[in-house]
Amino acid sequence: MAAAQAEGLAFRGAPAEPPAGPDPATALAGLIRDVPDYPEPGVVFKDITPLLADATAFGTAVAALAAGHEGVDKVAGIEARGFILAAPVACRLGVGFVPVRKHGKLPGPTHAQSYELEYGTATVEVHVDAFAPGDRVLLVDDVLATGGTAAATAELIRRCGAEVTALSVLIELGFLGGRANLPGLTVRAVLGL
Ligand code: AMP
Repeated sequence: MAAAQAEGLAFRGAPAEPPAGPDPATALAGLIRDVPDYPEPGVVFKDITPLLADATAFGTAVAALAAGHEGVDKVAGIEARGFILAAPVACRLGVGFVPVRKHGKLPGPTHAQSYELEYGTATVEVHVDAFAPGDRVLLVDDVLATGGTAAATAELIRRCGAEVTALSVLIELGFLGGRANLPGLTVRAVLGL
């Protein structure tokens, strides 16, 4: 089967009728398109738009991302594809959704966290009133690569006085070693590619 995380691929609560044919992880993996040299030479971009366009697969992915994370107070999604996955995960878990956005996109007062990219820096921001003190927050994104984005976002959420319970991603690019940049954080991946 497509390298699914052994313990991470929990399809508890998945739609009653899973995709016909191969096992669910293989079915999901088959709907992720590799785009070589995008957005720059040497990068293989994981395009999830075919998966999103398939209602059964989308529902299965959302169920898998949410499984085991019941009891959180909020779900935070990372701009931009993280929003697409995190919002339905929040609905499924019956809690609110918080957007973590790139610099300058949120209208109200924000906390900001900058982090290093290969060339330059990036900044993620969240509204200062997005979390109540002690909120338990599930962080959701599409792809875990080097872990820099998730590490900065987790730090941002902690600075707001909330607790990050876990990072749930659709795809983990294990060869980039992102988990090593997330010490102490539970990481669950639906697919390891
Ligand atoms: P990183 O901070 O290196 O873990 O990168 C994670 C962020 O960049 C996520 O928000 C992803 O949406 C995006 N990303 C990184 N690498 C890829 C890739 N190969 N395909 C699609 N998105 C990626």
